[in-house]
Amino acid sequence: LERTFSIIKPDATRRNLTGAINKKFEDAGLRVVAQKRIQLSKAQAGEFYKVHAERPFYDELCEFMASAPIVAQVLEGEGAIAKNREVMGATNPSDAAAGTIRAEFAESVGENSVHGSDAPETAAVEIAYFFSGLELV
Ligand code: ATP
Ligand code: MG
Repeated sequence: LERTFSIIKPDATRRNLTGAINKKFEDAGLRVVAQKRIQLSKAQAGEFYKVHAERPFYDELCEFMASAPIVAQVLEGEGAIAKNREVMGATNPSDAAAGTIRAEFAESVGENSVHGSDAPETAAVEIAYFFSGLELV
């Protein structure tokens, strides 16, 4: 089974939406196999999102990701990477399909409730950045 890395972002943890978001994952056949609540420093958020360093929203994105605790997760299932991105919906909630997490919960294109890895290589790097081998069973 494939695994992917997920973050429940600060806008969602602030509104106590962790359970509601996990229900969407579980209903879609994704299993939460690792999960922890942590607070990133702005520097750690910047490292995680460094591919976006040249984008105009980068500073705001790093501030946001460090503004409250996040829930870092590993999700497992058949075709987990694509399935997770389908359940998340489009980056901008106004483009997100009905029933997706971002359509239901996201506040804006920046504060959009969840992150999900976009490819097997990024999933492997992101999982290893947040979880040790001992935490993955
Ligand atoms: P993520 O990588 O968080 O799963 P994504 O792959 O849908 O989301 P990316 O293009 O990788 O979208 O952007 C990363 C994150 O940067 C977005 O999820 C969002 O929080 C933020 N972001 C993207 N575009 C904008 C924008 N135009 N204005 C503000 N923030 C943005
Ligand atoms: Mg992305």
